[in-house]
Parts: sequence; structure tokens; C-alpha cells
Amino acid sequence: MKILVMNCGSSSLKYQLIDMENESVLAKGLCERIGIDGSKLTHQPTGKDKVVVEKDMPTHQTAVELVLSALLDPEHGVIKSMDEIGAVGHRVLHGGSVYSDSIVVNEDVKRVIRECFDLGPLHNPANLMGIEACEAAMPGKPQVAVFDTAFGQGMKPEAYMYAIPYEYYEKYKIRRYGFHGTSHMFVSKRVLDFAGLDKKSGKVIVCHLGNGASISASIGGKCVDTSMGLTPLEGLIMGTRSGDVDPAVLQFICNHENLSVDEMLNILNKKSGVLGVSGVSSDFRDIAAAEEEGNERAKLAFDAFIYRVVKYIGAYVAAMNGVDAIAFTAGVGENDARARERVCAPLGYLGVKIDAEANKTRGKEIMISTPDSKVKVMVIPTNEELAIARDTLSLI
Ligand code: ADP
Repeated sequence: MKILVMNCGSSSLKYQLIDMENESVLAKGLCERIGIDGSKLTHQPTGKDKVVVEKDMPTHQTAVELVLSALLDPEHGVIKSMDEIGAVGHRVLHGGSVYSDSIVVNEDVKRVIRECFDLGPLHNPANLMGIEACEAAMPGKPQVAVFDTAFGQGMKPEAYMYAIPYEYYEKYKIRRYGFHGTSHMFVSKRVLDFAGLDKKSGKVIVCHLGNGASISASIGGKCVDTSMGLTPLEGLIMGTRSGDVDPAVLQFICNHENLSVDEMLNILNKKSGVLGVSGVSSDFRDIAAAEEEGNERAKLAFDAFIYRVVKYIGAYVAAMNGVDAIAFTAGVGENDARARERVCAPLGYLGVKIDAEANKTRGKEIMISTPDSKVKVMVIPTNEELAIARDTLSLI
């Protein structure tokens, strides 16, 4: 069975076709600038040359049609007939408090995705457009919604409530939801296997450190806490997002700079984080390079990023009354040995010991703690597309 995985943004569409016999990627690609001039599709069939198709894509519908014709193309396609695609799995940002698991899409599911437009204003409308475009292009083909908020639904009320008047929770469902859920779920489950922990009681912390960054605590794969909140803005310092700030900072800057709350949120989401502090870049490789050249603010940005991760690990160890394993994943977590080393250095109080040689490995599943380390520390590459494809297969 082959599963098509779709991740629709407001002007983009990423896809992968995965053969579930051996979980191999047959083709992947990206449509860019949907609804904008100069749209193009980049299609990468595995083992063949990349193809770029520059064609107008006024809507997600036309983008989906273009993707399907690339997959079916006699030259650079990877399937002969649409019948080979068993189902489509969609990444959906927000399922509110309704969905704690993936689900086959029907009219009710679409209604909930629509009701969550308020909570995920940039992503949910695009996710729904992607689902409806696939329904139109592949009538009758099962569509599955995999929610980025599903994992966070494991949190107990004391972890997800904001201490603001309760009426806002009742009226608007204001609470912490958590994001990167598909990644945290995939990695935390894999950690239980890889580290040989008890499937029900293994205590795991996953550090998803990329341009977007978040951290989760889970017991037996069930989320205890996760650092993102109502939106992905809360928690760790990220490439361009501030993570936790005192909300009074907003009021102060808005008043002094004559900015609206929307403008201020845009700054916190897009101009803050390591980019904001360093003034150099949101890319951690650029930050490291600048630091090496003696840039003090780049050093400060990286130090602050690491400090916040270390602080959250301490909080999550406390929340779970211990930890058996800590895993690093995503762009920085998988590739940046220095970041891992710096996060682990202050964890001596937990009995964490890192094998410096193993820690040099990049982008591969590997144990980086020494055999006598009290907590197992490892790198587990995340694979959200595969997680979506597995959920999709299990539901149809
Ligand atoms: P997202 O999916 O949130 O956009 P990724 O998980 O792809 O982010 O991570 C992107 C980040 O990973 C970038 O900031 C990039 O600098 C960082 N990264 C990738 N490779 C390395 C590396 N070798 N060393 C340090 N950082 C790296």
C-alpha cells in the first residue's frame, strides 16, 4: 500500500509518497507560491533526477492536480495508476480539544478543523483547503487528518491551564495545546524501543530543536507536558520566535513604539529568538560561525537558547519525578554536536555522562551517553511524514 502525505501551508504544499511495504519514500516534493505569481513544483523521485515544473497554481486544487500528474508522469513519475495510492494523510495544525488521535476525515472532522481556524489562523484554513483539494482530485480515496496538537492532549489540566480568568477557557478554549506533536509522539515512542524502556512507565524528554523548537515530557509515550502553548510561540527560544516572555513586555513596547498587538506578535514570532538577540541570523549554523568570529551577541543568543533548554529539562524532570532518557531531534538536535554537548554539560546532577566521540555523529540514530550514564541520552531523527503515513495506514 502506498500512502500520500500532504502538508499544506497557505501558499505551499509539501508531499511525500511512501511505500508502506518497506516504509521507503518513492517521491517527495514541494509546490511553492500557490496563489502567487511565479509558482513552481519541485518533484524529486527517489533515485531519479529532480524535476522543476514552473506552472501557474492559482489554488491548492491546481497544486494537488500538478502533484498527482508528476507522480503519474511516464518519465519522472513513480506510479502507473492512481489506484496505487491507498489513502492520503494530511498534517493538520490544530484539532482543539476534540482530537487526541488521528482520524479519517468526514464532514464532522472538517467542521472541527474549521472551528479551529481561530486557534490556527495561518495553517488550519490551508490544511482544510488541502483536504478538500484531494477529495476533489481523488474522489472516494480515504483522507486522514493527523493533528499537531494530538500529543499535547495527554496533558492534565494543571499542565495545560493558564492561570487567567476561567471564563476565557470556557468561552474561547484558551489553554496550552502544544505543537510539534507528531514529532514528539514519533520520537518518544522510538526512544522507548531504542533505549529498551518500559512501554508504560518509561520517562522520556524529547528536545525538538530546529528553527521551531519545543520540548516534551512523556511517560510511556503519553504527554505530561510540552513547551508550546496556545500557539507555537511559548516555550523555548527558537530561530525567530521569542519563546516565553513576560506579557507586560508587549504592553511596554506597544506603548513606547506605537505598535499594535498584531504588529508586536509578528515581532515575537518572526523577528525574535536567536535572530532577534544576535541580529545575525535565525540559522544556527550562521550563529555558530558568527560566534567563532567573536560576535558577542551571537554568543549571547546561543547561550540563552541553551540555558532555556536546560531550564525546561530541569522542570520536566521535576514534573515526572525523574527521567530515564533524553532525546535530541530536528535540524539542530540531530546535527549540532556542540548544542547537545552544551545542553548536557549542566546535567551532571542527573548523572548524565556523554560519550564525546559518539556525540560527533550527525543525523543518525545513536546513543550518545556512556554505558554508565544514569540517564540514556540519544539522537533520534524525527520523521513526521512517516509518522503521518503510519497513522494513516493504521486507520484505513
Ligand atoms: P524547521 O523544521 O523548524 O524549519 P529544522 O528542524 O529543519 O527546522 O531545523 C533547521 C535548523 O537546523 C536551522 O537553524 C539550521 O541551522 C539547523 N541546522 C541544520 N544543520 C545544522 C548543523 N550541522 N549544525 C547546526 N545547526 C544545523
